Amino acid sequence: MTTDILSTLRDHAAASGRVWLQGPAPVTYAELWAATGRMANALAALGVRRGERLMLQVEKSAEALTLYLACLRAGVVFLPVNPAYTMAETRHFLTDAEPALVLVDGSRLAGLATAGVKAMAFDAFLAMAARSAAESSDPPHAPDDLAAILYTSGTTGRSKGVMLSRENLASNATALVGLWRFSETDVLLHALPVFHTHGLFVATNCALLSGASLIFLPAFSPDAVLAALPNATVMMGVPTFYTRLLDAPGLTPEACRNVRLFISGSAPLSPATHAAFRARTGQAILERYGMTETNMITSNPYDGERRAGTVGMALPGVEVRVTGEDGAEVAKGDAGAIEVRGPNVFQGYWRMPDQTAKEFRAGWFLTGDLGAFDADGYLSILGRAKDLVITGGLNVYPAEVEAALDALPGVAASAVIGVPHPDFGEAVVACVVGKVEPEAIRASLRDRLAAFKIPKQVIVLEELPRNAMGKVQKVDLRRRFANLFDGTA
Ligand code: AMP
Repeated sequence: MTTDILSTLRDHAAASGRVWLQGPAPVTYAELWAATGRMANALAALGVRRGERLMLQVEKSAEALTLYLACLRAGVVFLPVNPAYTMAETRHFLTDAEPALVLVDGSRLAGLATAGVKAMAFDAFLAMAARSAAESSDPPHAPDDLAAILYTSGTTGRSKGVMLSRENLASNATALVGLWRFSETDVLLHALPVFHTHGLFVATNCALLSGASLIFLPAFSPDAVLAALPNATVMMGVPTFYTRLLDAPGLTPEACRNVRLFISGSAPLSPATHAAFRARTGQAILERYGMTETNMITSNPYDGERRAGTVGMALPGVEVRVTGEDGAEVAKGDAGAIEVRGPNVFQGYWRMPDQTAKEFRAGWFLTGDLGAFDADGYLSILGRAKDLVITGGLNVYPAEVEAALDALPGVAASAVIGVPHPDFGEAVVACVVGKVEPEAIRASLRDRLAAFKIPKQVIVLEELPRNAMGKVQKVDLRRRFANLFDGTA
């Protein structure tokens, strides 16, 4: 059964002295609960009503999480936006979501003056909340009420508002707490952004539901993480956290002595990183898979083999299947489209019913990811459907070529893309980071991959373009190398 986030939070607040935020000035659950009441009252005083949107665009802070919970109490729809977005990018969220109130860092206020929205500095809001009463009378809530809208990163086309219900969040957190064995004795090291599902919902809700506490870092840095790690029992990260930690000499078994679980997601963790982390620390990183629209979908097991290069099995209560072009399920081992069904799946894209309809088929959400189950039921992600390379009529899954590249000595990271080619339609091109010779790479791949999968060209780069969650921006690479074969007949 789903555990309700608010009633659990209230229970933890009633338990004496339970700590929410660790640090020199710890914050208890009782203080957190009171702060959410104050913020809920401040929202009401500012005229923000149940069902309306509250947009927040600020640098990472613990108060941003408190505001998310205050919105849950008030029934206000929480809409966090990446603070890295420019005013021009932000404008789309303002016109599309029509927030009743926008809270921003003071430096952004001037830019909003002409946007025709009610805006306020987050600091001023916090000061107002501090003067408000802690007791708030929360309206009744239904499981299908909207809790949040998160916009997709929208690297192509228009960014879409993902509508998440209270039940979407609570059911997923309930499943994860059980699967990952969270308890009130846990201390979660939080170094992720809080405008994205990973840091905002996965990390925060697991801690909240179990009464655990957070070590809350303003941003990821290897030094800050290594300093905090001895006091943590769980860390959640994106793969770049782990590769950057591996570059730090301070990553030792001793530094990780109290950590019972390292979790990775949001982008593929290479088997080489998994192996290197295990060799250095003795810990097998648990990889899971999810997306904004679905919350978490699959996870490697807590007990049992955490299989590198896979994302494990469906979470309890979540159904996952892999289908072919005809929409029928494919045989185990075969690649196809990943579809998801369950209480975790979102309510649709905000004000885009046609787009929503296109991405569902008979109750199943089409993730747009390609994957395959192995004989033991572990799912592997083979990339986004739109990243599939079709060369000379043959399908090449970038993830397969990237895995072969990453296994070669000297390769630190790789990204495989399709580039227009006069003969083949598309040609496989590999962008590689590391001390390597392009021709030697191609030669080494010959006994590992069929000829049509071998990159026509290997390009060595200083680094791969990545977004805040560590995802490689293949759109940027495709754009940059679009004319590579223009002169080829
Ligand atoms: P987002 O909505 O920003 O969380 O992005 C979701 C997408 O990230 C998914 O559709 C996948 O393409 C990708 N993703 C998330 N977790 C993993 C993972 N463990 N391995 C590979 N890709 C992942």
